Amino acid sequence: MFFHVVLTSECNLQCRYCFGESLEDFDEDFSGIDVDYSLPKKANYDFSLLAQLCKHDPDCVLTFYGGEPLLCANEIRQIMDLAKPRHFMIQTNGLLLDRLEPEYVNRFHTILVSLDGDEELTDYYRGKGTFRKVIENVKRIAHKGFRGELIARMTVMEQTDIYKQVRRLLSNKEFKFSSVHWQLNAGFWGNDYARRNFKRWSETSYIPGVARLAQFWVDQMETQGTVLRLYPLLGVAHSLLHNESSLLRCGGGWINYAIQTDGYIIPCPTMWGMKKYYSGHIAQTNPLEPKKIFVGAPCTECDVLCVCGGRCLYANVTNRWNKEAYAEVCCTVKGLINAMKTKLPRINKLIDEGKVQLNDFEFMKYNGCEIIP
Ligand code: SF4
Ligand code: SF4
Repeated sequence: MFFHVVLTSECNLQCRYCFGESLEDFDEDFSGIDVDYSLPKKANYDFSLLAQLCKHDPDCVLTFYGGEPLLCANEIRQIMDLAKPRHFMIQTNGLLLDRLEPEYVNRFHTILVSLDGDEELTDYYRGKGTFRKVIENVKRIAHKGFRGELIARMTVMEQTDIYKQVRRLLSNKEFKFSSVHWQLNAGFWGNDYARRNFKRWSETSYIPGVARLAQFWVDQMETQGTVLRLYPLLGVAHSLLHNESSLLRCGGGWINYAIQTDGYIIPCPTMWGMKKYYSGHIAQTNPLEPKKIFVGAPCTECDVLCVCGGRCLYANVTNRWNKEAYAEVCCTVKGLINAMKTKLPRINKLIDEGKVQLNDFEFMKYNGCEIIP
């Protein structure tokens, strides 16, 4: 099992697609779902319960999450001193990575750090100076011995040229990322769609950009013998190569859960306070058996469900975007799947020729990369 340990709801940034949107989001209609808005700001349960959870499931993976989890560096140290999961991971905006000593940082299997592309775009979305500070910190942790996987995690919306920005992260002079994931800001807020230009952008920029990226990705296999860890491409290609179908690819609600600040277990950190979806409490629940929950319509009637997996449980159950808007997001999913299907014969040929190996496409599933953006 994978658990996001939500340490705090507070954050030290005010990003446009998160803080900015929350200021505009007056619509509290979550499809009639009752939300508890009075959760503690910081985790307030006994952390020895996390150690017990890891004893029940020695294969479990704990991922520190927030808000910004490094605002709780002390709690991270306490938990890492107490609990023995198979792996620790963290999703962070990267600004405070220098607060944690190498003896802790170097124990992370994976660090997902939020960067949206180059300096100009990252600072536009996330605030001036953010890019520089994060790059300084990732260089610093690499210098101090971090050898785990460092994934640049992009949030993507209309100002993003996906092809250009992924390439910028891969070729950044000061720190070249070899692992990149991106997630669309789509379907998360109540009233943003009407004032945005999502349809035009997705049709004219994003979907063609993903196809171009797929071409670049396979070119790299051919010319460099490298399968870059561009997670949306990697995850879909892996499934097509193995002819495997997938449940929700982030694992939310069936293998990947979150422990909110009061200890209740929820299917995904975005579903905090949604009492209807509580799957028990860390003090009581057998960690191997939290309640399972799966996506409903329209995904259940969709002809690409076995590859897509349903994209996002939160978007599916809350219906923050209407049917037409949801369908536009689905067009981006189909664009990604088509891009990969088109490339599959060439990838198979490269494997046959020994330019790349089938196991170059392996990755740790449910590592915080949702695969379907
Ligand atoms: S493409 Fe859309 S409708 Fe189909 S499974 Fe994915 S999210 Fe659901
Ligand atoms: S895709 Fe949706 S359900 Fe899955 S982790 Fe992301 S926000 Fe949660």
